[in-house]
Amino acid sequence: EYIAKNAKIYVAGHRGMVGSAIVRNLQNKGYTGVITRTRAELDLLDQSAVYAFFKSEMPDYVFLAAAKVGGIHANNTYRADFIFENLMVEANIISAAHQAGCERMCFLGSSCIYPRDCPQPIKEEYLLTGPLESTNEPYAIAKIAGIKLCESYNRQYGTKYVSVMPTNLYGPNDNYDLNNSHVLPALIRKTHEAKLHGKKELIVWGSGKPMREFLYVDDMADACVFLMEKGVSDGIYNVGTGVDVTIRELAETVMRVVDLEGTLIFDDSKPDGTPRKLLNVNRMRNLGWKAKVSLQDGIAMAYADFLTKGIV
Ligand code: GDP
Repeated sequence: EYIAKNAKIYVAGHRGMVGSAIVRNLQNKGYTGVITRTRAELDLLDQSAVYAFFKSEMPDYVFLAAAKVGGIHANNTYRADFIFENLMVEANIISAAHQAGCERMCFLGSSCIYPRDCPQPIKEEYLLTGPLESTNEPYAIAKIAGIKLCESYNRQYGTKYVSVMPTNLYGPNDNYDLNNSHVLPALIRKTHEAKLHGKKELIVWGSGKPMREFLYVDDMADACVFLMEKGVSDGIYNVGTGVDVTIRELAETVMRVVDLEGTLIFDDSKPDGTPRKLLNVNRMRNLGWKAKVSLQDGIAMAYADFLTKGIV
């Protein structure tokens, strides 16, 4: 086993969907040295606070899952906040980790870093081979900068910072805001509300034709911990299921899980975004990792979690 069970492991962003799943995964695997800080305790935009934190805690491992994230509308609307906050958080954590002698990190990127019109399924090597999708370009640029920070620190200083590119994630602690969330939590909420109010229609943004791949967040967390345990020390790794669905098929699956009989209305005043975003996951497969949770099962678990949150 590569990581000591009592190693000091800082999970940045532990209240978010991905960070909280990483904490669950580490605890399930018996790791006892997980370190977290709330936003009130540590402002990751504050460089001197981040430096002081790393200097005093000296973590052995970092999972960088802190980020400003959102769906197509949020990315397109709060463009300055998405690029600025993500750049600052990454730069602060990565440089502070290096300064404090922390040699191992897993940086969470995103599949939107790849060129909009690249061949599908998307291979890691397509990074920086073409123009990005415009609705999330500021966020994608920040995430590409994070990848390059990791790569550059590795090259210049010999650190072992690995980057993972998750496909569209969903699960416990997702954001269910109707405007700013991603498609799957939005559809879960809208479908539940329609059922609650006896409505027979579900409004879906765009044409319903774009294709997306969805990964349950506990699978994502497992992939991150797997890479660190393997001692993988450099490069980027796509993490997904290798299977995608149209937004129409997704909405139909959500309606089945929530148990709503109704018709779909497509609102084409809303953007479609990238036509397709399916990851080639061979690099992870070759290491011996693959996703376990099916879309239908994952949506059922996410819906069960949504119901406990009392959002509606
Ligand atoms: P993207 O993967 O970066 O494009 O982000 P999203 O998850 O926000 O959107 C994925 C696709 O789902 C886009 O084509 C959206 O137009 C479509 N979509 C359909 N209904 C919704 C909705 O209620 N909310 C969101 N965010 N997207 C929706």
